[in-house]
Amino acid sequence: MRTQRQVVDYSLQKRAVLRELLAGRIGTYDVCDASPYLKNAARFHGEPTEHRCPICRSENLTHVHYIYGDELKQSAGQARTRAELPVLAMTLREFQVFVVEVCPGCDWNHLVEQFLLGRDGLAGEATDATASAAADGSTARRRREAQR
Ligand SMILES: [Zn+2]
Repeated sequence: MRTQRQVVDYSLQKRAVLRELLAGRIGTYDVCDASPYLKNAARFHGEPTEHRCPICRSENLTHVHYIYGDELKQSAGQARTRAELPVLAMTLREFQVFVVEVCPGCDWNHLVEQFLLGRDGLAGEATDATASAAADGSTARRRREAQR
């Protein structure tokens, strides 16, 4: 998304959890604990993905986008479909998005990434700072792809 910035990727944390699980230091009940709210959000606002659940390997993961920020008022903390985000990003100056992956089969859930969206990201779009931020973004993406 055009105004996306300050992306934090949680794939390292996720892999650490999966390692702990594999080593038997934690159980699936510790990580497959999606709340009814999260599961509902996944059902009604979730974005289907092509990624298999790392735990049960029988369902594809769903991404849920939670939005936070003062400008959102009572909508803060709600889940939104991915399609709604660019619209909000043109309306609001800045809000935080948290992406959570959920398995509809076994209730595995984990934070995928967080980032900022909003019109403030358009200011000085053509400056060097933005260009280097974009370069960082593509580096991070390449790194993520390499990890798969
Ligand atoms: Zn699963």
